[in-house]
Amino acid sequence: MIEFIAQESCIGCDKCYEVCPEDVFDSTGGGVPEIARLDDCTSCRQCALHCPEGAIFVALLNKPMENLDKQAIIAQGRTTSYAKWLGWDKGTPPPGDRSGSHYDYKHRLEEKKGGGKPPDPADRVRRMLYEAKERNLI
Ligand code: SF4
Ligand code: SF4
Repeated sequence: MIEFIAQESCIGCDKCYEVCPEDVFDSTGGGVPEIARLDDCTSCRQCALHCPEGAIFVALLNKPMENLDKQAIIAQGRTTSYAKWLGWDKGTPPPGDRSGSHYDYKHRLEEKKGGGKPPDPADRVRRMLYEAKERNLI
């Protein structure tokens, strides 16, 4: 789930509020959005991917992290590491992306799935991803 918004980095653009599919945030009208419905967070990381300031940290846990060291996480670049792994720079699609960030997200996902080739039938997760892609669900 979302662990924190780095208040010192946030510019109040409300992008996280706009993209969150679970309506976790409340807008504060130009300030740092409020994490108002933490229990609804599914750790999808869309907020962290789209934040232009890399101010959001999401952990793949279903409860808040214990002994969370916010400053260490920021210093280690972990607020932007997932975006960089996908090839985004702080949520910005790379140059040459023709169709916007959603296209790029799908493109990167496709790469991770093995370039669109049918996966090993025994690999259940990759097979489900492949089938979902084939049905244009992702
Ligand atoms: S990780 Fe996903 S569900 Fe959780 S706050 Fe961010 S956008 Fe919303
Ligand atoms: S997307 Fe990032 S900079 Fe924009 S309001 Fe949310 S946390 Fe702040």
